[in-house]
Amino acid sequence: MRIAQPEPAESVHPEILLDSGEQQAILEYQQSILRAVLSGRDSIGMVREVCHLAEMLLPNAVGTVMLLNRDDGKLYVHASPSVPEVAVRRLNGLQPGPGGGSCGNVIYRGTPQFVSNTFSDPRWTDLRQIAYDFNLCACWSVPVYDDAGEIIGTFALSSFEPRAPGRFHRKLLETGASLVGIVLSHARWQDSLRLYGRAFDSAEEGMLVTDAQARIVEANPSMCRILGYAREELLGQSPRMFASGMHGPEFYAAMWASLRDGGGWSGEIWNRRKSGEVYPEWLSIKAIHGADGSVTNYLGVFNDLSQAKAAENAIQHLSTHDALTGLPNRRLFRTRCESLLESGAKLTLVCLNIDDFRSVNENFGLAAGDQVLHEWAARLQACTGDAGNVCRWNGDEFLVMASSAAELDAAELCERIAQTAELAFDPGGRALELTLSQGVAQFPEDAANFDDLLGQAGAALHEAKAAGKNIVRYATPGASERAREHFRIAQGLRRALSRQEFELHYQPQVDLRSGQVVGAEALLRWRDPERGLVPPGAFIGVAERTGLIVDIGAWVLDRACADAARWQELGFGRLPLSVNVSVVQMRRGDFPQLLADAIRRHGLEPGQFEVELTESVFLDDAARMRTVLAGLKSSGLRIAIDDFGTGYSSLAYLQRLDVDRLKIDRSFVMGLTEDADAAAIVSAVIQMAHALGLQVVAEGVEDQPTMQRLRELGCDEAQGYWFHRPVARDALELLLAGRS
Ligand code: C2E
Ligand code: MG
Ligand code: MG
Repeated sequence: MRIAQPEPAESVHPEILLDSGEQQAILEYQQSILRAVLSGRDSIGMVREVCHLAEMLLPNAVGTVMLLNRDDGKLYVHASPSVPEVAVRRLNGLQPGPGGGSCGNVIYRGTPQFVSNTFSDPRWTDLRQIAYDFNLCACWSVPVYDDAGEIIGTFALSSFEPRAPGRFHRKLLETGASLVGIVLSHARWQDSLRLYGRAFDSAEEGMLVTDAQARIVEANPSMCRILGYAREELLGQSPRMFASGMHGPEFYAAMWASLRDGGGWSGEIWNRRKSGEVYPEWLSIKAIHGADGSVTNYLGVFNDLSQAKAAENAIQHLSTHDALTGLPNRRLFRTRCESLLESGAKLTLVCLNIDDFRSVNENFGLAAGDQVLHEWAARLQACTGDAGNVCRWNGDEFLVMASSAAELDAAELCERIAQTAELAFDPGGRALELTLSQGVAQFPEDAANFDDLLGQAGAALHEAKAAGKNIVRYATPGASERAREHFRIAQGLRRALSRQEFELHYQPQVDLRSGQVVGAEALLRWRDPERGLVPPGAFIGVAERTGLIVDIGAWVLDRACADAARWQELGFGRLPLSVNVSVVQMRRGDFPQLLADAIRRHGLEPGQFEVELTESVFLDDAARMRTVLAGLKSSGLRIAIDDFGTGYSSLAYLQRLDVDRLKIDRSFVMGLTEDADAAAIVSAVIQMAHALGLQVVAEGVEDQPTMQRLRELGCDEAQGYWFHRPVARDALELLLAGRS
């Protein structure tokens, strides 16, 4: 042990005792190795250089660096450029211990070991043979420390002659050992730096390093890729350049507070890419502290969450929508309906099924079937105006709902739905015509909750199917019949115009004093191939609700004008003609113009024509109607109020509006001779009208006493079966011929 202890005088400032040549040699030794370290040479080459240079300073000796293996606790040769390979192999695996040679004892004792004679020194007991075999006569060994002060190995000089080290030799060994320590530590740092660099560069996560002032000093390739910037564009910038504007100042204040107080922050944040796109990311920031505890850098690591979010949204959409049609699925549709029911809204639920859909699949293939369903879904959406109101319940069965807010009544909705099927489908280019059956239930009339409503609509659909195809059935008895009728009429009317199934009949109007025919009212008829001659009361309402009245009304005007022109040519003179006009036609601002054009086109006079309007016209948008009426009057047309007494019957509007005639409704006229009240009303109306300067026409005169009574009351004109039924043009011509 005593031998192992360095002599006190030599361990303190040994360089003082070196002569200048020796000092110079040591300095050069250090410099040449440190220069190699700086130039980035490989570490093993440098350690060998440490040995070489030492050998040059100590002739007749060889240098060896052995490193301790932490796993087995043994020493292995790391570098020994001048020792033969066989000797290296024998030295490898040296067990530190009291007989383990100079190096084994360095590790065993933790101190330098200077053995002057290996053949006799007890510290070489275990290695004596090696000493003999390779003529290693003396061996001086010192510890190699790492940067943490741990012994990691030994640096030894073995002489081929027995000798004790001088001060210079000790300094040489000490210097060599510390150079080896530096080289190895540096290499380890380089390795880990390279590793960190590779991790930084190849990380999937975006990584960003800033200085203490939050200026970007490094950004990894993922970061550049995610944000769309080149690294050079980022360096020196502030991460504020990524701000999306979606977080307020309090968000960033909380982030900085967390960094200050806890040294870190993590959370979801929306940032902006260079392209301007805003996207979500998961960001973790850590403050990095220097030796004095102050923050030197911040490290930000983040994951782009946009794909995850998109996937999440896609999953959300898939879980609430039908994959084939993109319509809301059962669950979503039910939720929507239920929340509407809860709000107390009136709701119509239509359950519909494509007739014979199975044959589409069988004849055209499943892909074609899918295509039809897809197309059908799009048409249904278009006809309800809101995709949220349609659902594919299963297979070819769909649900459609309409709340009262949609202002669609059930019949209209069903008709629209049926129309969606009227256009042919063409899966794979082959035309395919389909029909559908519909079951309708309404809230609150038919059920109190969604399940019952659905049950009722489903049962109605079942009935519709059982009754044949292309049918609408209602949960409420009777409603079904009405809707079916409405549906049939609308379908028929649509075709009637193009197939010229309309006719105009005329009912003469008679002057009560002279008994002469003084005019005629044009009355529309529909010659339906299935049902024969249909009176207007059976279809005008449907025509009005579907808007078809506009085209039908235009046809009536044109036909009335054409007939009037013909009569003029036949020499019957300018027979005054009354034409019925619906409020729906009146709502169209161009109606007066349309009428005037038709009259002019046939070379007629507007004064010959009278427009019959019901009182409902005056309940409509009053200001608008006044303008339209003024337009009619200014073109010289006359105006009559039809069915007077059945509606609003306000004297005020009679006074205000420039009306020419009043037509007392049939219901009063028919009770004239028996019902005292009716008689009183008719009498009052005639007096009042006369007082306002209006003429009075009585409708529905069916017998002589009624005619007589009207005459007594001073009524001007009348029409009714007692005089003439409405007749076709030719019959009227005969009648007029007889008159003259
Ligand atoms: P309105 O304008 O009050 O026409 C008189 C209706 O009473 C006609 O029924 C006529 O046939 C019927 N009538 C006439 N005399 C008698 C009688 O002595 N006894 C009975 N029981 N009935 C009589 P029509 O032709 O069925 O027309 C019904 C309604 O349809 C008309 O009532 C009118 O409001 C409407 N209408 C008819 N043609 C047109 C048209 O071209 N356009 C529009 N918008 N509505 C029309
Ligand atoms: Mg009329
Ligand atoms: Mg009438």
